Amino acid sequence: MATPLPATGTDWPTLKARMAEYATGDVAWRDGKTAVYVFNAGPEVERVQKEAYTAFMSENGLGPAAFPSLARMEAEVVGFGLSLLHGPEDAVGTITSGGTDSITMALKAARDFARKEKGVVGPLNIVLPRSAHPAFDKAAAVMEIEVRRTPLNAYLADPEAMAAVCDAATVMIVGSAPSFPYGLIDPIAALSDLAIARDLWLHVDACVGGYIAPFVRMNGEDIPPFDFELPGVRSMSADLHKYGYCAKGASTVLFRTAALRKFMIFDFRDWPGGRMVTPTLAGTRPGGAISAAWAVMNFLGVAGYREKQGLVTATRAKIAAGAEALGFSVLGQPKLGILAFTHPEVDSQAVWGKLRERGWFTSLATEPRSLHLMLSPFHAEVADTYLADLAWALGEVRGGDGATGGEVRYS
Ligand SMILES: *Cc1c(COP(=O)(O)O)cnc(C)c1O
Repeated sequence: MATPLPATGTDWPTLKARMAEYATGDVAWRDGKTAVYVFNAGPEVERVQKEAYTAFMSENGLGPAAFPSLARMEAEVVGFGLSLLHGPEDAVGTITSGGTDSITMALKAARDFARKEKGVVGPLNIVLPRSAHPAFDKAAAVMEIEVRRTPLNAYLADPEAMAAVCDAATVMIVGSAPSFPYGLIDPIAALSDLAIARDLWLHVDACVGGYIAPFVRMNGEDIPPFDFELPGVRSMSADLHKYGYCAKGASTVLFRTAALRKFMIFDFRDWPGGRMVTPTLAGTRPGGAISAAWAVMNFLGVAGYREKQGLVTATRAKIAAGAEALGFSVLGQPKLGILAFTHPEVDSQAVWGKLRERGWFTSLATEPRSLHLMLSPFHAEVADTYLADLAWALGEVRGGDGATGGEVRYS
């Protein structure tokens, strides 16, 4: 619907008030009642994000020669990611606009590698566990690549099922660390073995785990190898704007070697505008997303991340125990910030609807129908309220007032 642009301008204080009014219908995420979409590391981190973002908001990451500041900050942020994820000496990476961008560009690199380096001709495919993120399907749709999703085993990728559908036209296999629906880390070591044995490109999607798992391991949890430590891993995606607590619009795509990343970069000169090199899907790249990532990572440091991620995992354990005490069962053994839990008798979607009445905006997994939480440090403060409301919601649904709605959509 066309909306006429106001004929004359409006002063900023009026507009600011109007925006606040628009926001009154939004979820109360600062109160900790949202466990999807937003990562709340508290007001201090939010302030650093905001000030660092606005400081470079007009600068453009498309021009590293014009803005060596951004090139330097990007190199440092990527370096932090590679050091946390066992990047070998020759490993490289790039900041992208988000997980979908990272995944798309990794797939583009893997596809071009297969075409140019291995001489694969004809239709191509990728092999994913059923729990992998839809970003792979989107990227594959754009590139006209067939997607082969394989069944899970105990909510985890099944390397044998994946091996069975790989062939000479398979340009990538994927494991998640962790998967979004279950919060569980796939058996990446076995996928790495498969990748080595069959000379396949293994991408580890650590979008939601890459900047939490290393710190959870430092805190003493037994996290199995899932990153470049495993020799079969050729690329990874890890989102800064999730458990990195950076401002939105920032992820990292990482490669084992610079030679592999070459297949990602678009280098073009056949037009009247001169040579244009773009590493990611974007042309213009917001400087603020890069500067905010740099500032937040330096603001927190290892000690800050360990503390924040410790709050997340303690809250996850507390909610898991509380939910189990109410008769729910947690799917698998989540070790990071996501958990899903289901009830043998009561429809989780109905419980979700009741929790919504109390202001909770969380998500759902569907196989089986489960409540799903993606926790932030701030949730430590509201875990008790959540569990009390969960008990109440369960009682309400048990009492019969639990009409299940239609399919829940998040966007
Ligand atoms: C969030 C997520 C993505 C996609 O990232 P966006 O930043 O939302 O584009 C991909 N994979 C997993 C496992 C995720 O959790």
